[in-house]
Amino acid sequence: MDRGSLLSKERIVVKIGSSLLTEGGSGRLRWDWLRDLVIDVIELKKAGCDVLLVSSGAVALGQGHLGIRRSVLKLEEKQASAAVGQILLANAYTEVFGSHHLTVAQLLLTLGDTEGRRQYLNARNTMETLLHLGAIPLINENDTVATQEIRFGDNDRLAARVAEMANADLLILLSDIDGLYTNDPRLGTNSEHIPLVNEISAEIESMAGPSRSNIGSGGMKTKVEAAKIATAAGCSVIIASGRSGRILSELENSNIRCTWFAAQQSPVAARKRWIGNNLRSGGTLVLDRGAHKALLAGKSLLPAGVLRAVGHFDRGDAVALVSESGEKVGAGICAYSSADIERIRGHKTSEIGSILGYVGREEVVHRKDLVLQNELIGTSHVER
Ligand code: GLU
Repeated sequence: MDRGSLLSKERIVVKIGSSLLTEGGSGRLRWDWLRDLVIDVIELKKAGCDVLLVSSGAVALGQGHLGIRRSVLKLEEKQASAAVGQILLANAYTEVFGSHHLTVAQLLLTLGDTEGRRQYLNARNTMETLLHLGAIPLINENDTVATQEIRFGDNDRLAARVAEMANADLLILLSDIDGLYTNDPRLGTNSEHIPLVNEISAEIESMAGPSRSNIGSGGMKTKVEAAKIATAAGCSVIIASGRSGRILSELENSNIRCTWFAAQQSPVAARKRWIGNNLRSGGTLVLDRGAHKALLAGKSLLPAGVLRAVGHFDRGDAVALVSESGEKVGAGICAYSSADIERIRGHKTSEIGSILGYVGREEVVHRKDLVLQNELIGTSHVER
């Protein structure tokens, strides 16, 4: 099976389960394990991959620190533990990455942040900016504020939403399980390991039983659900055991046992679909002839080619692109608000800073954020 080199991926989300980061429920951090993992993350970064970490462990660390011994906690006890543990968690990553002169950035998200349009774009832009600045996003659920109804509840699904949001091409779910089996290998015999899943059928879903581990909340079921979200967004998924802190290099260099879920489309196709589905009605950029031609030739849209902005929209919104004669050219994510476009339209990119008082993106719509009209057909243009 060729799942491709990890190093060939552009953007990887690694999800780290509580049972790996902490010593079997004691709430003690496994420092050596973390140091090993960080070595491999740095190798990926050196090879040019963007890496985002989704790490559990706040509840387990906080629980240990507070001396709560029970294995089943009430929601408010979990939240209190997370409030204590999240500081310990972030400090641990900061210390270990810091010893390699790398910066960690904490992002705490709730379900709404990955589903509501406004928050989604804010979270996404923050992640992009952090990656651009060379920081390593360290993401967890905002456990202290999330009530039962607005919780992800498990970091597998959170990691899948992050992968979707960040347009990652690989999500690696690390826990104490080395992949999917036909039935739970710990419960009975005759269970067969599944190395490759091309499509998450009902049969595959039925192989994933409920949660087993009492440290952390995800079981195989949430991992398969996460794989469903991510693969639909153009991101391949690996479920692997992270017992060894060097698991990332082991995945790269040896034929270590894991389950690989193939992406259902490319991240580019998924992104184009996303733009089509999030097109803001009423938000339009009118382009001059030169810009229209440039876009058809695969170039980005620069402020000089914009004649005007129609409607009200914010930075990060998906807007329609039309020619001067009203012909639909496509759609794209606009890096400036309609108010700012009105000020920079027709100007050279080098003038953006002096006009707006801040230096934004060079492109009004980057070609990666652009869908031409013929590619838009098939997406449903639903306003969220
Ligand atoms: N957000 C929780 C924590 O940091 C973990 C949820 C999970 O393990 O899936 O402890």
